[in-house]
Amino acid sequence: MPKTRMNSESGKGMLILISGPSGSGKGTVCKLLLDNNPDLNLTLSISATTRPPRAGEIDSRDYFFLSEKEFQTRIDKGDFLEWAPIYGYHYGTPLSNVLQLIEQGKNVILEIDVQGGVSVKKKFAGSVLIFLLTPSREILYKRLAERKTESQQEIDKRIMWADTELGYISSYDYVLINDNLEETVARVRSIIMAEQSRSSRFKLADCWKQ
Ligand code: ADP
Ligand code: 5GP
Repeated sequence: MPKTRMNSESGKGMLILISGPSGSGKGTVCKLLLDNNPDLNLTLSISATTRPPRAGEIDSRDYFFLSEKEFQTRIDKGDFLEWAPIYGYHYGTPLSNVLQLIEQGKNVILEIDVQGGVSVKKKFAGSVLIFLLTPSREILYKRLAERKTESQQEIDKRIMWADTELGYISSYDYVLINDNLEETVARVRSIIMAEQSRSSRFKLADCWKQ
């Protein structure tokens, strides 16, 4: 059977934003999605941050780890698509990388916070915004505690900020409750598949030469 062509094959890539409270599963879901769906032509944007690396994190793979001074210089030069202060540090999406990847036709995943999500949507109206949530606050707390990457004080900060983040849900296109991991990944895949066929992404001239 001939392969079904999707609209984004004829044009530029999409921006797919995944946000949600720390511990909602963004990193885990994105990793599974990227590892197991080569047909979706996905790639992850690597952010810059002033937060110190966690055990096992590698510069330029997990984040571009910058000093506050370096980060400020990048802001001044307009190097970021968006940036935001989070948990006492700064995080930002390098603009040139994202533009290059979209031009190459890649579907770029941005795992960024709600402030960044809203800011990107204003600049790229066609971005797809997905909000990830745990089934409850208790489960969020449990997953953060079991992840063992933050101190108790850091966990409390993240849970408190989660309430502010929930206030942004209405700005998002989709909300997923990350209960069963495989199902969540399958749903994100379905969203991406459907978005690729959105009529607003369709360019008639690309396939029906006139
Ligand atoms: P985030 O990137 O949003 O901060 P993580 O991807 O690090 O969140 O997930 C937080 C923790 O929850 C990790 O230990 C991860 O293994 C676990 N986790 C993620 N999704 C699920 C799920 N559906 N069920 C149970 N545990 C999960
Ligand atoms: P962490 O320190 O746990 O890696 O990330 C903390 C928060 O920063 C998460 O909500 C994550 O989505 C967000 N984040 C990571 N990179 C960026 C970015 O480039 N921009 C914005 N606005 N948020 C980011």
